[in-house]
Amino acid sequence: MSEKTAGQKKQEALSYKKKNYFETASPAERKEMFDYAEGYKVFLDKGKTEREACDFAVNAAKEKGFTEYRFGDKLKKGDKKYFVNRGKSVVIFRIGTENIEEDGLRIIASHIDAPRVDIKQNPLYEEGNMCFLKTHYYGGIKKYQWTAIPLALHGAVVLKDGSKIDISIGEDEGDPVFCINDILPHLGREQMAGPAGKIIEGEQLNVLVGGLPYDDKEVNDKIKLTVLSVLNEKYGMCEEDFLSSELCAVPAFRARDIGVDRSLIGAYGHDDRVCAYPALTAVLDNDSRHTVLSMLVDKEEIGSEGTTGIQSKVYEDLMEEISVALGANFRKVRANSKCLSSDVTAAYDPNFPSVFEKMNSAMLSCGTCMSKFTGAGGKSSSNDASAEFVGEIRKAFASEGVVWQTAELGKVDAGGGGTVAKFVAKLNIDTVDLGVPVVSMHAPFEVVSKADLFSNYKAFLAFLK
Ligand code: MN
Ligand code: MN
Repeated sequence: MSEKTAGQKKQEALSYKKKNYFETASPAERKEMFDYAEGYKVFLDKGKTEREACDFAVNAAKEKGFTEYRFGDKLKKGDKKYFVNRGKSVVIFRIGTENIEEDGLRIIASHIDAPRVDIKQNPLYEEGNMCFLKTHYYGGIKKYQWTAIPLALHGAVVLKDGSKIDISIGEDEGDPVFCINDILPHLGREQMAGPAGKIIEGEQLNVLVGGLPYDDKEVNDKIKLTVLSVLNEKYGMCEEDFLSSELCAVPAFRARDIGVDRSLIGAYGHDDRVCAYPALTAVLDNDSRHTVLSMLVDKEEIGSEGTTGIQSKVYEDLMEEISVALGANFRKVRANSKCLSSDVTAAYDPNFPSVFEKMNSAMLSCGTCMSKFTGAGGKSSSNDASAEFVGEIRKAFASEGVVWQTAELGKVDAGGGGTVAKFVAKLNIDTVDLGVPVVSMHAPFEVVSKADLFSNYKAFLAFLK
């Protein structure tokens, strides 16, 4: 190889270029990436709903010696705790050795709900010798993507007597699955003329759950009665119990490697479990001097509302409780706190170049991606992080050799989106978005790179250091 010219050297020193993390990683680090992905796939398969992901996180925390915290409990340096909110969100936290009034909290906020198809409160009917559940979709989905794929039913039902049962049908190899019907192409002329938003309409997202008539000539709705009988036999349920249920249909397939080189992962619900898993493991694996909180929250996909979404006072209360328990002034604590709002972003997709501005798009495998701002139409509704805070995070990443990138969600005015960042920032906590680029986001089968997953984990470790 010949000597570099002065111009080449100068170009290297002055120019910025994203790096493909697979290319820069050593063979040992590459192996770490692939090994880490195996644990993540287990999390994906076991935690398809916020309730299940919450349970998974609690069990993982318990295994690492974390114990349950309730409001009012005493806290001391070194404590390892988890705080469960209604079984749907959880904060895993660890009290550091630093004075939290001066040092603040290090918060990683990610979400464990994902777009899906929820079952209505009075859902069951039969027609055309088929029995269905009526649904109301949850989060931003392209409805047509949810037809003609195997679906599993997950959730909880509170019975008449007040007891709660957990339901999961369609995950075990021998389980039946469910589906939403679509029309054959032969009769799809009108449907295929579009628009795409109307190919399948909300009230057509009915989940097929049975076809066997009950053996009694004297009853009507025989297939519905068979379905009810099976549910009654298995779960003690009757039709009225749907009134107090939270059931949803999610893709029944498991997380799989994609590509002959196995570099990518295809699965339901990478958004936002691809950030929640690193956020969980980073805190469990960490021995930070800081007081760190990993918040795995619910309801992000419908605006962070309700008692379990990040806008709920419960998270602020928890931070205040921690401050008070440690004898610190909460206002000072939060003023000195820092947060990574950890949510996914759109990966540049060469099949749809028109919606991206390539220079400021997240490139697959170039590491976890920082979005200084999100929002739509002129940064509206966005937490726009300060250059100072971005600079601080950048420095922390550089000192730990984190391969990362920045991006915006698509072209200016192509659309937009938001995360929990703006709600955390409102508490007077410096916050910036950081998360994994996803291909086919919000589809039943989303794609991420193992390099970006691992980069996200490394970024969290650097942030907590
Ligand atoms: Mn998300
Ligand atoms: Mn989302």
